[in-house]
Amino acid sequence: MNRPFKVLSSVLVALAALTGCIPQLTGLTETLAPAVEATRAAQAEPTPTPWPRADERDAMVDIQIEARGVVDSDVLRAMRTVPRHEFVPMEYQGQAYNDHPLPIGYGQTISQPFVVAWMTEALDLTPGERVLEIGAGSGYQAAVLAEVVDDVYTIEIVGALAERATEDFRRLGYDTINVKHADGYFGWEEYAPFDAIIVTAAPDHVPQPLLNQLADSGRLVIPVGPPGGYQSLWLYTREGDNFTALNLGGVRFVPFTREVRGE
Ligand code: SAH
Repeated sequence: MNRPFKVLSSVLVALAALTGCIPQLTGLTETLAPAVEATRAAQAEPTPTPWPRADERDAMVDIQIEARGVVDSDVLRAMRTVPRHEFVPMEYQGQAYNDHPLPIGYGQTISQPFVVAWMTEALDLTPGERVLEIGAGSGYQAAVLAEVVDDVYTIEIVGALAERATEDFRRLGYDTINVKHADGYFGWEEYAPFDAIIVTAAPDHVPQPLLNQLADSGRLVIPVGPPGGYQSLWLYTREGDNFTALNLGGVRFVPFTREVRGE
């Protein structure tokens, strides 16, 4: 029982015992209890997200993400917070919280919400860590990362997407995300090592520079497989100079390309 309420009840019990009016006390506790409960609920509630469509995000998390086994509370909070509809083209904004990927132009897609949450959870992040993403695309995954850690770097090979993501981060206040227009195969040496690296396009092999740029105990989550087909999602973990690889399951991502495009 809530402490002030308990104290109040004891005082009332004492008073009731003195005056002999126990029935009246029962009535009183019933009217007081909801008020106390409401105060407690208000105190426990997180700061409300400033973005509209919070109900749709909550439903998305409940039905698509938590129900499928994602439990990391930081990841769930991030998914309830980031305004996914702000990262999709106008004509798809109505579908932003649906259970599937959406086109973002230039032949690319924003991943299904569950896949974003699942991959982020697999990175096993703690707040002070530094994370590199390869394949910024819409910028949505990077924004989710930025809700969990302080330091996010993301590389995009299509110039127009890199530019649009940069503008969106500025517009939405995600000022801890750094964007580079380049081939992510080579990682981002200048800011290495990274505690975690996430790749959101599928190469046919794991780029060696990304393994090299992992910090000790660093994690790399990457889909690997033939372009256009199904791939396996792998979790690589570094311990000193040893790497262990765990197959997390089947996925389908856009191909990892090597040609730096301007448009
Ligand atoms: N994480 C993105 C998903 C975008 S789809 C999001 O949240 O929206 C994958 C992206 O990877 C595409 O934008 C594609 O252009 C990009 N990409 C493909 N090969 C790449 C490479 N070698 N380096 C950097 N980005 C690459």
